[in-house]
Amino acid sequence: MALDTDTLRQLTDSVARFVRERLIPAEAKVAEEDRIPDEIIADMGKLGLFGLTLPEKYGGLELCASDEVKVVFELCYAAPTFRGYLGANNGLGGRSILNGGSEEQRERYLPRVASGELLTAFALTEPATGSDASALKTKAEHRADGTWVLNGSKRFITGVAEADLFIVVARSDPESKGGKGVSVFLVEADNPGIVRGKNERKMGQQGTHVADLHFDNCVLPATALLGVEGKGFQLTMEAIDRSRLHMGAICSGLARRLLDESLNYAMERKQFGQPIAEFQLIQAMLADSQADLLAARALVLETAARCDAGENISMEASCCKMFASEMLGRIADRAVQIHGGAGYMQDSPVERLYRDARIFRIYEGTTQIQQLTIAKNMIRRAAAG
Ligand SMILES: Cc1cc2nc3c(=O)[nH]c(=O)nc-3n(C[C@H](O)[C@H](O)[C@H](O)COP(=O)(O)OP(=O)(O)OC[C@H]3O[C@@H](n4cnc5c(N)ncnc54)[C@H](O)[C@@H]3O)c2cc1C
Repeated sequence: MALDTDTLRQLTDSVARFVRERLIPAEAKVAEEDRIPDEIIADMGKLGLFGLTLPEKYGGLELCASDEVKVVFELCYAAPTFRGYLGANNGLGGRSILNGGSEEQRERYLPRVASGELLTAFALTEPATGSDASALKTKAEHRADGTWVLNGSKRFITGVAEADLFIVVARSDPESKGGKGVSVFLVEADNPGIVRGKNERKMGQQGTHVADLHFDNCVLPATALLGVEGKGFQLTMEAIDRSRLHMGAICSGLARRLLDESLNYAMERKQFGQPIAEFQLIQAMLADSQADLLAARALVLETAARCDAGENISMEASCCKMFASEMLGRIADRAVQIHGGAGYMQDSPVERLYRDARIFRIYEGTTQIQQLTIAKNMIRRAAAG
């Protein structure tokens, strides 16, 4: 649902204010303690940030894609760990329940997903299957009484320690290969047979956590199946386009922060008797970053408008994710360069944000996987005339 201009402005202004007054001042402590304070999580819930696109009838803000990306541009001006905490609720978790869930499943989970009371984690990746996700091996055995038994391991899953509900992609037809015979399950975290791995030590985004997740004869009721048995991979791919567009918006928000940090520093820092911003070689880096950022934002806004018009955006969403994450990498690198030695010091937000930014070229499909998706879509469209 598209908001009217005034309501959207009020929402983006409130998020921008929250970012500047609450999130940015808390960033360094969150990174040091590897923990987001409960009050901040509660306030993110009050602002509706856990359910940006979920329907109003389930307590979400029901934003259309064009409005959603504008809110995300503002939210991701802060360190991306805050967005990471609510990532699955807004993305592959919440949207999979919306797209594939029965009315009963939607009513049971979505209001709490939208409020942030219930935290989801989306579990697709496995130790032997990352980019080649459809080769997954986690087994879901359908028993005669209708229940399911899960066995297998998932790797690098965001929010394992905190999640109340796991959305798990598993092979339900043992004879099948690739994306066929795969189903999605809603696994409540207090279910016996779930073993949570310990949080990994990672390069950036301290405050959100990643761990392995194991299923050891984890018995699920028949009602845990999400969507149609055997069609789980399609369900996941349906949610992924919107999620890749969302990623493009995240990268654009964070890139703007890094560019603002760079410009402010360049105008203050003096060398050879003048602000370094006066040097043309510094100006070249600022200008390249500005053009990169405007291009990414324009691509994200254009793709969001196409999504709202009901067009298939598989190719465009991959372009957004690829271009914006690579653009963010370039801007983060230039930001450190413009800061000189100060950009290498841990007291500088730029040092931390540089590390935070690196993951966006890897998860939800690496740059190489986006290239393959884009080219595949180009060929398919050309062949279809
Ligand atoms: C911080 C973090 C959080 C994550 N959160 C989640 C989560 O919540 N849920 C979840 O399910 N997963 C999650 N992941 C997993 C993430 O999606 C995978 O790491 C990612 O998809 C890449 O898979 P991989 O690590 O196995 O790399 P690989 O697939 O082994 O890739 C290694 C390299 O090979 C390249 N490559 C692979 N195949 C090809 C090809 N066909 N052509 C060319 N190059 C290729 C890749 O681009 C990459 O450069 C997370 C990962 C991290 C690091």
